[in-house]
Amino acid sequence: MARYSDQEVLIDLEIKAVDLIGSENVNDHQVITAKAQLIMVVVDRHKRVRRRKVKTVLKLSRHNDAKTQVFTEADYLLCDGCGASINLTADGQCKYCSNPIDLSKYDWTLVEIN
Ligand SMILES: [Zn+2]
Repeated sequence: MARYSDQEVLIDLEIKAVDLIGSENVNDHQVITAKAQLIMVVVDRHKRVRRRKVKTVLKLSRHNDAKTQVFTEADYLLCDGCGASINLTADGQCKYCSNPIDLSKYDWTLVEIN
């Protein structure tokens, strides 16, 4: 398997194929395990963009309260800490008060990649 190393920065990820191999419920979260074929687009240490084909096993998690197929308009979501509107595509924390945002309450999140 091609290794995603410290010397490479992942800039994009394309999913080519997914094969569900497991599903369980852990601590109020749905957790699914799937074999996946990915194309990882990385910038290597020489600043060259490379595309790496990777076969991997992914683990994805989503809070049981997350609803399927609901379009979440980022502007309508508010920080639990300070009430500011939050952007789900940001760093996983509020930019005003640094309160962590649990993205799994809104959609599937990647928890493990092997
Ligand atoms: Zn906040």
